[in-house]
Amino acid sequence: MHSERWREYLKEKNLPAFEYVCLAAEKMIEAFCLNYDYEGPPIEIYLSANDVFNAHSQTDGKIVVTHGVFNEIEKINQNIPLFFSSDAMRENTSVSMFLWIIAHEFFHFARSHHEARHVKIGYIDALEYDADLFAIAGTFRHINNILKGNHPEIPQIESKKFLLLGVFIYLREFIEKQIPNYNQSHKPFYIRLWWVMFKLSSIDTINPVTYEETETSIFEFQELFDLILNAEKRYITAKSLSDSKLLEHYTDPSTTVKPYVEQVHSKWEQIEPIVKSLQKISDGIQLPNPNKRTT
Ligand SMILES: [Zn+2]
Repeated sequence: MHSERWREYLKEKNLPAFEYVCLAAEKMIEAFCLNYDYEGPPIEIYLSANDVFNAHSQTDGKIVVTHGVFNEIEKINQNIPLFFSSDAMRENTSVSMFLWIIAHEFFHFARSHHEARHVKIGYIDALEYDADLFAIAGTFRHINNILKGNHPEIPQIESKKFLLLGVFIYLREFIEKQIPNYNQSHKPFYIRLWWVMFKLSSIDTINPVTYEETETSIFEFQELFDLILNAEKRYITAKSLSDSKLLEHYTDPSTTVKPYVEQVHSKWEQIEPIVKSLQKISDGIQLPNPNKRTT
């Protein structure tokens, strides 16, 4: 496979439009390394000339993203204007989507999932859950720190919504298409969205300095849930789809989604101590130190 550091790749392929998203991802990784006291080899983002939509992290700390991801980002920017009120919103949502993909891969590596999966066999879904939760928390804090500096007037629930919409489009548009028969690891989009919403609504935005984790805020969860239901309705209308697994499962989540998430969560509780003992970052979800620069 032909992979290169992202800067050279974009130059060679004449894709300057994507420099912004790659730069944003690189800054986020720098902030993660600082805030989580990362100890390991340098994390670098590489692009590979593969048209299949894919991203993965390697055991040496390289995060590899395929050209296919950029093709799809371009398609999103052109073809899915239905969720967005403005061009700026549309572009920013594809950036937040990209950041979440990179964050997911970063935490696979930093939380030593490659090693953990060999120590305890059969817990891949719990490790995906781990990567999803760390990625959503980390990306939210990072985006929110930046927004807070530039636009203090924007309520923080808005950064959650904005990020969630990026995650929705990623899971809905790609994961659903890519993996029609779900394998062991990456679960159906509506399950992953469910736990992402739960995690997002448990990050306390009232105290932006510490971002303490709290019990899930029912009020915030409801707002995020409504956002996703609306996005899904618009999505199926725009794509002329006749049914929606998300709407079907979310109408009465107690029958399908909740038991499933509880099951993965209890597997996660079993493998979490192993992950913790192997990880290359400081313990747990580290609170950003306000004295450290994050942007
Ligand atoms: Zn993964």
